[in-house]
Amino acid sequence: MSAIHLKNLVKTFGDFTALKTMDLDIADGEFMALLGPSGCGKSTTMNMIAGMEEPTSGKILFGERDMAGVPMGRRGVGFVFQNYAIFTHMTVRQNLAYGPRMRGAARAEIDRRVGAIAELLQLTPLLDRKADRLSVNILQRVAIGRSAIMEPAIFLLDEPLSNVDAAFRAVMRTELKQLQRQFRQTMVYVTHDQLEAMTMADRIAVMDHGVLQQVGTPLEVYNNPANVFVARFIGAPGMNLIKGRPSESDRGLVVDLGALGVSPPLPDDLASALRGARGDVLYGFRPEQVALAPDGRGLALPVTFVERIGARTIVHLGEGEGAVKAVFDNDVGLAIGQTAIVAPEAASVRLFDASTGRAIRAGG
Ligand code: ATP
Repeated sequence: MSAIHLKNLVKTFGDFTALKTMDLDIADGEFMALLGPSGCGKSTTMNMIAGMEEPTSGKILFGERDMAGVPMGRRGVGFVFQNYAIFTHMTVRQNLAYGPRMRGAARAEIDRRVGAIAELLQLTPLLDRKADRLSVNILQRVAIGRSAIMEPAIFLLDEPLSNVDAAFRAVMRTELKQLQRQFRQTMVYVTHDQLEAMTMADRIAVMDHGVLQQVGTPLEVYNNPANVFVARFIGAPGMNLIKGRPSESDRGLVVDLGALGVSPPLPDDLASALRGARGDVLYGFRPEQVALAPDGRGLALPVTFVERIGARTIVHLGEGEGAVKAVFDNDVGLAIGQTAIVAPEAASVRLFDASTGRAIRAGG
């Protein structure tokens, strides 16, 4: 079984806690991304799964087997790091063949496997090139191939694409996903790049400061962030969050967004989730989920900056606590200094408790 279970996993270095009581179940054949900013404990978690670090407390199980004391070489894991680890004096073919050869595989079997993996990773024309003549991009592809050829039941990748250039990264995202589909390994992928996590992973474990913040499919963490950290971290730009105070009005429950001078009404399901709760909230909506309000109803804000990124336009609106961003699929013709009236789509509004940062969920 190649499911992975982390149970009450803790890692401290002296009096510094790098990982606080992590519980995570990764299913057999699942692609799980560990996503978070630098220093959040992703690599520490990964290193413990690989067997390079011992947990301070808690357990790691592969299937039902407790991995305590099982050395890395006996865990059946493949590992690819940020910095490619390959033999530069060998050819690509020799690098790919290295693992199976060390295991004593027959020549014909080695040739078959090298051929298949080279084809998958588009290395076939380069098989007889010496590795020291290859670009960083290709070297990382060879490193992935060298690990993948062993067909490990568990494949661990720690920021494997952070040193390759942007165009190549996009190609590799597709290839890695195909590789995993083909071999059906359990894949754990460490990254600080949400695009990688969102495009490849079946589920994402979002981490911050050694604490697991949320586990969910890419759409779950995007649509229903568990807290303000996830709301801001996922999305580019992240979710707009404006401090507000709920109050009853003749329009039902509204949120007084002091900084913006408006009090939008709440969708019924959120209004009922909020009734009974006290205190300030953060009113959240995704920059992509706003419309320019032709009827003049919405948030009237001065345009402070306009970024055009190809077909997309990111419009910065307002300042200070009331600053928000809106993303449009085309050039909406707004210029700095103009006033824009934007309306968040009602169904996309999310609320968070301003003191705890936790999501206030409709129906729970
Ligand atoms: P990055 O992408 O920057 O590597 P990360 O999320 O992978 O970030 P970790 O490498 O897991 O983070 O590190 C988590 C924290 O633990 C960091 O503050 C790091 O400085 C600390 N840390 C990691 N290894 C050690 C160690 N051997 N001794 C002391 N502190 C460590």
